[in-house]
Amino acid sequence: MKAAVFHGGGRITPGDWPRPAVGAGELLLRVRGCGLCGSDIAKIVAPETRGPAVFGHEVVGDVIEAGAGVAGFAVGDRVVAAHHVPCGQCHYCRRGSESMCRAFKASNLDPGGFAEYVRVPPANVRHATFRIPEHLTDEEASFVEPLACCLRAVDRARVEAGDTALVVGLGSIGCLFTQLLARAGAAVVGADPLAARARVAHEAYGAREAGDAERAAKAARELSDGRGADHVIVTGGGADVLGWAAGLTRDGGSIHYFAGGPGDALPLPLATLYHHELTITTTYSSSPATLARAFWLLAAGKVEVAGLISHRLPLDRLAEGVDLMRRREALKVYVTP
Ligand SMILES: [Zn+2]
Ligand SMILES: [Zn+2]
Repeated sequence: MKAAVFHGGGRITPGDWPRPAVGAGELLLRVRGCGLCGSDIAKIVAPETRGPAVFGHEVVGDVIEAGAGVAGFAVGDRVVAAHHVPCGQCHYCRRGSESMCRAFKASNLDPGGFAEYVRVPPANVRHATFRIPEHLTDEEASFVEPLACCLRAVDRARVEAGDTALVVGLGSIGCLFTQLLARAGAAVVGADPLAARARVAHEAYGAREAGDAERAAKAARELSDGRGADHVIVTGGGADVLGWAAGLTRDGGSIHYFAGGPGDALPLPLATLYHHELTITTTYSSSPATLARAFWLLAAGKVEVAGLISHRLPLDRLAEGVDLMRRREALKVYVTP
């Protein structure tokens, strides 16, 4: 079958890949489309990532084969499937660290959504696959996984009505956060050096104010009566952002790292962290519960995603999509075989 094959060293070319065969409890999907995620880009550009590999985990497809014993899905169903599933029973899972479960990263779609066909393993079929209602488009449904990751972060940040939240980075993830935080009752301020992105977050996704660092800082202070933001959600910028973010967080507030990025050590004096009682949290990836909630939010039209896809590319041009994302020219790339 056709696939976009990663060879290592940041290189992706159109190529051939063995078409997966399905076993008991599994589904074979003919891929309809797959979103390109920032985490795919991070893997593609990391020098240590080995090829050959096929990425893509925001997968929408048609079920063309169902293994023995599959319940709830049938040939012909249009579904969205995510890649990682925790065991649900271990020490990590029972304490809300589902993405740290040893089974989580070991699970995966085969080979990935940037291919013509994808095998969905049994655990993913049971806990990370959803039949798409007719009124939801493929592109909208592809946001289940990224939205679930954002939901898990908002849960962990413990956002309350009346809070002020500052979202750093207004790519597609930043725009999902803007909506979720506003739904939670927070006044949202967005920060991004790209004026066009700030405008979109403000005009289309409910940020009360958005702009470059200076403008966002001013707005965060004003909206919080000078206290600073209750929550700062960092979706981009890496370690360097922390000092600036801490200066805009209220005493006792929290800073949430949603994404990794450049920089090793976090530049924050212990005295600042301690005396201002700041909390730094992180979340990596989603959980079955947040996938289900994300699916519901999209199906119910509570979160708007249709306008987030800026580029649609065929599978054999995935490398272009990667370049567009790296140059921050694309808000979101959606790839179709
Ligand atoms: Zn993703
Ligand atoms: Zn587990």
